[in-house]
Amino acid sequence: MPGTLLITGGSRGIGAATAKLAAVRGWRVCFSYARDERAAAEVARAIETAGGAALAVRADVRREAEIVALFDAAERAFGPVTGLVNNAGITGRIAPLSEAAPEMIREVVETNVTGAILAAREAVKRMSTARGGQGGAIVNVSSGAATLGSPGEYVHYAASKGAIDTFTLGLAREVAREGIRVNAVAPGLVVTDIHAAGGEPGRPERLAPTIPMGRPGSPEEIAEPILFLISPAASYITGAVLRVAGGR
Ligand code: NAP
Repeated sequence: MPGTLLITGGSRGIGAATAKLAAVRGWRVCFSYARDERAAAEVARAIETAGGAALAVRADVRREAEIVALFDAAERAFGPVTGLVNNAGITGRIAPLSEAAPEMIREVVETNVTGAILAAREAVKRMSTARGGQGGAIVNVSSGAATLGSPGEYVHYAASKGAIDTFTLGLAREVAREGIRVNAVAPGLVVTDIHAAGGEPGRPERLAPTIPMGRPGSPEEIAEPILFLISPAASYITGAVLRVAGGR
């Protein structure tokens, strides 16, 4: 039975698609956003209009106190959190490393790595059967960039996602006997706002010919495997990184 699912960065893109699909599958969905309150409210409204349960909470994954408050809000509204999707992430500006601003690099690592690790830490504290919890599942959103390296575009971002792959494996093994599964989905090129934020809105279309399937993916095509890994259908899968990249 689905329970309470917490998604970081659910206001747009892959997180929003995951929130909507999760609600259809019966999860009570609490999701965070950083800045875009209007987009977050629209996602929550769409879920509620379709008969689902949703709560949008402003919480920056770079701030531990806000992560704790996010989990508290989810539990107050919907009961114990049994699923976490660590989705919030940014690329920073597309540029060769020598031209990348140090502050931007710090922001990417803090959001993609520290933020995801802090959210997973809070989830483990609450889910672990060794601590009186009910167990649960965590899915980290990595990227195909982790194994491609993204030269000339954002090697700092690719490195942050490499860290997520290693973190997924280590944490999965650490909590495997505490009722918690930890996996990652590594999307390829997906049509979302992230490319415009990096300075190239048409990036998925430009790179489409380099994708074996010849096209970028949709957020919904990433939401499906995320929800598979969160669900009991994946009960014997932990420590896996599932590439969802059209062959790229
Ligand atoms: P997106 O459309 O830009 O959406 C990003 C989401 O994360 C938004 O909801 C945003 O909230 C939230 N967010 C950003 N910084 C945050 C912070 N500090 N605290 C809390 N929330 C924050 O991005 P996307 O393409 O869906 O990407 C989602 C994940 O997939 C990321 O981890 C990304 O690295 C990964 N990914 C994407 C692609 C792709 O091609 N799109 C490929 C591989 C991996 P606001 O609306 O408030 O800004």
